[in-house]
This record gives sequence, C-alpha cells and structure tokens, in this order.
Amino acid sequence: MSNLTDLTISETLRKFKAKEISPVEITKAYAENINACNKQYNAYVTTTIEQALEQAKTAEQNYMNGTNRPLEGIALGIKDLFCTKGVRTTACSHILDNFIPPYESTVTQNLLNDGALFLGKLNLDEFAMGGSNETSYFGPVVNPWSKEIKLVAGGSSGGSAAAVAAKMCAAATGTDTGGSIREPAAFCGVTGIKPTYGRCSRYGTIAFASSLDQAGPICKDVTDCALVLNSMAGYDEKDSTSSKIAVPDFASFLGKDIKGLKIGVPMEYRVDGLNPEVADYWDKAAEILKAAGAEVVSISLPHTKYALPTYYVIAPAEASSNLARYDGVRYGHRVEGNGLDELYISSRTDGFGREVKRRILIGTYVLSAGYYDAYYLKAQKVRRLIKNDFDSAFQKCDVILTPTSPIEPFAIGDKKMLENPINMYLNDVFTVSVNLAGLPAMSLPIGLSKNGLPLGMQLIGKAFDEETVFKTAYQLERGANFVRI
Ligand code: GLN
Repeated sequence: MSNLTDLTISETLRKFKAKEISPVEITKAYAENINACNKQYNAYVTTTIEQALEQAKTAEQNYMNGTNRPLEGIALGIKDLFCTKGVRTTACSHILDNFIPPYESTVTQNLLNDGALFLGKLNLDEFAMGGSNETSYFGPVVNPWSKEIKLVAGGSSGGSAAAVAAKMCAAATGTDTGGSIREPAAFCGVTGIKPTYGRCSRYGTIAFASSLDQAGPICKDVTDCALVLNSMAGYDEKDSTSSKIAVPDFASFLGKDIKGLKIGVPMEYRVDGLNPEVADYWDKAAEILKAAGAEVVSISLPHTKYALPTYYVIAPAEASSNLARYDGVRYGHRVEGNGLDELYISSRTDGFGREVKRRILIGTYVLSAGYYDAYYLKAQKVRRLIKNDFDSAFQKCDVILTPTSPIEPFAIGDKKMLENPINMYLNDVFTVSVNLAGLPAMSLPIGLSKNGLPLGMQLIGKAFDEETVFKTAYQLERGANFVRI
C-alpha cells in the first residue's frame, strides 16, 4: 500500500500547493486501496473512480493556474444516503437499489464547489437505522481493526468510518440521527463531528428522522474535520431548518488555548454496563485536558435515563412518516400487484428490511389516535427536559466530556439485532441525548483496549459553539497521541 494515503487532508493540501504530489497520483493511490481492500471490508457499495480521476485532472489544472479551491483534489467517500446526481443512491435499502437521483444534495454540492472529488458511495445501515451497519441490504461492513474475528464497524455510517480507517478515501461524509457519525468513528479509530442541528442543509439527504438528522464529516483527525466541515456547512434556502448563523472558519480554532476552560463530566453517564477500560480512558481524557490547563467539574444531566426511550419513540415516529413515500409508484423498487393497494403492499413488503419495518410499525403505533398523547406527546415533553438539562449544565461548564460508546467494537452477529434490538439500542446511551437537544458533538480516538481495539471519547458543546468543541478536541488529540491503523 502506498503511504501517500497515510497523509491527512491538511498535509495533502500543503503538498499539492508545493507541487510535491499531484491530485491524480493520490486519487490513484486511494483507488488502489479500494481495489485491494473493499472486498474484505465492504465499505463501498458503488465506486466512481473514473469520474474521480477526471475530476483529479481538473484539480491538477487548477493548481497549475492558481485557481485551486479549499478542498481542490481531495478524494472523498460519500455515505450512500446523500443524493448524487446521476450516481445510484440506495440508502442501502432494496427499495431504492435502482434509484438514480436527478439532483445533487446540498452538502455534496458544497463539497464539489470547493474542489473535492468523489470515489464512490459508502455502505450504511438501511436508511441509517442501526448502530452496527448490520441492517444494510448490501451486508455488514467489516471493521478494519478486526483480527481473527470479523468485528462491526459501528453504524450507521460504518462504510464511512471503515473507508477512512482503511485509507480508501481521505475523508467521508456521514449523517447522525442518534450517534451514527460518532459511534462508527469511535469503533474504527477515526474522528467525526456531528455539528449543531441546522449547520448543514438536509436537502437531498435521504430523511430518517428530520428533527434529529444532521450531516458531518468523518476524517483522519480533528484538523481534517474542521477543513471538511467548513465546506459542508452553511445556510441553504432549500432547507427551512438550516441555520442563517454565520459559519466560522472551524480551522481557526485549532491550537487555541484551553486554559481555564471548564470541562463537565456528567455523573449519570457512569451507567451499568460501562466497560471499565472505557471508564479508565474517560478519567485519562480528563487528566489530559487538566494538564492542558482546563478545569474538570462534575455536572448532572438528570433525565439521561429517559433519553433512549424518548429517542426510540421520536425517531421511529418521524421515520414512519418519512418512509411513507416509498410506495413503488414513482421511483424505487416495484413489485406489481392486482390494484394499487396490492402494489403498495408487495413493494414495501419486499423492499424494506426487518429493522426498517420494525421502526415503521413502532412509529405508526405511537402516532396513532389513542396512543399519540401517551407516547409521542410525552416523548416530546421529555425531549424538552433533556434539552433543559444541557442548558443548566452549560451554566457550570463550557464543554462536556463523555465516552462515545460504553463498549468496544463487537463481533458481527453478536448483538442479535433482529431477535433483540434493545441490546443494540442500549449502545446509543451516550449519543442520542445530543441529537434530542440539537447540540454539536465530536468523537475522537483516545486509545486501544486490552484487545487492541480503538475506543472513542465524545466532546459535547453548546449549540453553535463548535469552536469550543474543536479547540478542546485538538488538545485531547494531542495528549492522547493515538496511532492510526
Ligand atoms: N443507532 C441509532 C439508531 O439506530 C442511531 C442511528 C443514526 O444516528 N442514524 O437509530
């Protein structure tokens, strides 16, 4: 394998500008890695290498002419939930496995406008519903850190995290509804940020739960996350929930002093089932930040225990409504039937996988007359209490430090998702509150477990205060000194 693909984006851009390496050369190196490793890891479900090489030639010209843009010639992988014009976009569902969008999502368009190029579309849990990438119609992603036993890459952006870890792209896009950027980033030893709800446009991103969904990058390090998020974020008139608040230059926060910054450690996160090694690394992370001049304070998020049940009412409710459009009529998979009803039923029965059907059933149930007040409305009220918890906590601290996942990456098939989904849902205990409250949060690798597997830490910020998340993460990354695979 070529060591060109070890370079981070910031290093690559420096070398492009100095004409030490060329976009075509490095794009070819990533393509070689895809050819060599994708069978093993199942990260890409579609590749667009020829197109990427064409784009790389243009990038090369732009460097020659001095018209290079911020991400000129950077080779990315795109989660297959973002619509890409003329390139199959499946959400890793059978119901969309022949769908070719006639338009581009805003996030991917922003990246293209800034000169990035796309190597292909990455595997995910079907419609982003899952935490291990095992619900994908195209099969599970294999974690590049696996030894004898094949481990999950985390989910739902498992393809994105695995592709970055295995150097099959410089960085990847992800989406996060309840942890789907942060969990796979933690499991694969890479770095990912879910920005504040509204930072990135959701236009053209296939919807799971619209009040929770948010796009963000998965990268080799904190600096690259800043560079890629700079391009992804921004107001978009095509998404009424995208924010008009100005997007700062996230890279300008890196390396800033964190002296006197208050790091909150929530006591309710010391849950049963927290792996003791994860707990030790949590303490170590706090020590690193202390050594960098921060102050660690204990905080309380009292409604934490209601976050999972609240999330697993609200997310399926929104999903059941969002997925009503897949009926086999206008696009996607169709199974013919006698009459319209039968066509709908057969198409949806055949097109959706079991976990997606389960969520549609739960969602329809909690929204139905008679249950709406008892489940959906109550969940909305608890959602507000969870948000209030964060508001009070941020009176006492500037940023919150927690583990990303209570456990290390596990073997494919281990959690028996289909038989007992609760097992899997419990892994989201540290991530879902952040989406319910709409806050920014980053996961970065902190070290290896005794089994030699990566563990991640999470930093949660105030709404639209990615600045504090980035500058704290940068110091934590420096102190952790994690060695990429
Ligand atoms: N694991 C969570 C779920 O299954 C979160 C998924 C996500 O963030 N897309 O819903």
